[in-house]
Amino acid sequence: MIQITMPLSFLGTVYREIRQALVDMGEMFDLLHQPAEITDKPGAKPLAVSGGAIAFKGVNFAYSPERPILKGIDLTVAAGQKVALVGPSGSGKSTIGRLMFRFYEVTGGAITIDGQDVRDVTQESLHAAIGVVPQDTVLFNDTIRYNVAYGRANATQDEIEAAARAAKIHDFVMSLPEGYDTQVGERGLKLSGGEKQRVGIARTLLKNPPILLLDEATSALDTQTERDIQESLDAMGRGRTVIVIAHRLSTIADADRIVVLEAGEIVEEGTHEALLGRSGRYAAMWAAQSAEEAAAAAE
Ligand code: ADP
Ligand code: MG
Repeated sequence: MIQITMPLSFLGTVYREIRQALVDMGEMFDLLHQPAEITDKPGAKPLAVSGGAIAFKGVNFAYSPERPILKGIDLTVAAGQKVALVGPSGSGKSTIGRLMFRFYEVTGGAITIDGQDVRDVTQESLHAAIGVVPQDTVLFNDTIRYNVAYGRANATQDEIEAAARAAKIHDFVMSLPEGYDTQVGERGLKLSGGEKQRVGIARTLLKNPPILLLDEATSALDTQTERDIQESLDAMGRGRTVIVIAHRLSTIADADRIVVLEAGEIVEEGTHEALLGRSGRYAAMWAAQSAEEAAAAAE
C-alpha cells in the first residue's frame, strides 16, 4: 500500500508545485512574452542582505531590441526607505520591479541589492528577499491556510494566524464554518478583492522579506477598502525597504522620495512637498487627481 501511494503522492506534490510556480509568476509577469530562461551563474552565491539597499545604475532595458523601454534609470533606495514610483500607464514602473526580481536581464547598466549585482546571486535567494503584492493577488484552488502559507510550507498554525491577524483577515477567517480549512477559488469561497489582497499581505508577512514591492496593490479596490488595506500595507512596510508603485497619489504622499517616470525616464524626484513646490509633472498629476476626487465627492 505504502509503496503505491508514496510515489503517487510525491508526483502529485511535484505537479502541484510546478503548476503553482507558474501561477505565482503569472501574478507579476506576462508569461507569453517571457524571453530565454534566465539561469544562475555557475557558483552563484546566495544574496547576503544587510539592510536591503537597492541601486539601479544607468539601467537600460527593452523587451524587444527595436523598442527601448527604460533609458538610463539611476535610482537608489536606501535600506529601510520607502520610495514611490509614479507616472502614466506604460511609463515603465512595473518593468523596474520585474528587473529587480531579475525576471528579465537588463540590456545596459546594473542593479544591485546591498552592493551585489542581481546577476551574481542565486535567483532563489533573490526571490526570497523580495516580497511582492501585485494589483490582484492570485489565490490557489486550495484552503485559506495553504494560500497564506504558500511559499513557507513549514509555517506553523501560530505563524499563519499571526500573519493573518497583522493583515486583518484572521477574524474573517474565524467567522467561516471551516476556518483556515475553507476552500477558496473556483472550488470554494469566492473572496472579495479586498479579502484577496489581505490574504496576499498575510502571505507576504509570513515570508518576511527585507524588501517589499507593492505594484498598484490597492488600485483595483474601492476607496474605502483601499484606505483599510493601506493601513495594513503601511504597517508591513515598517522596518523594510519599500518600492511602491501607486496610481492614487494620496497613498504615497508620505514616501521618503517620489520618483516620476515618463516614457522610461525619470523626469522628477523629491518629496511630496518639494515636488508640489516645483509646479512640474507631479504637481500637475496631483492637481488633476485632486480635481477628479472633488468631482467624484460632489456626485
Ligand atoms: P507601467 O507599469 O508604468 O504601466 P510597464 O512597465 O508595465 O508600465 O510597461 C512599460 C512598457 O513596456 C509599455 O509600453 C508596455 O507596453 C511594454 N511592455 C510591458 N510588458 C511587456 C512585455 N512582456 N513585452 C513587451 N512589451 C512589454
Ligand atoms: Mg504597471
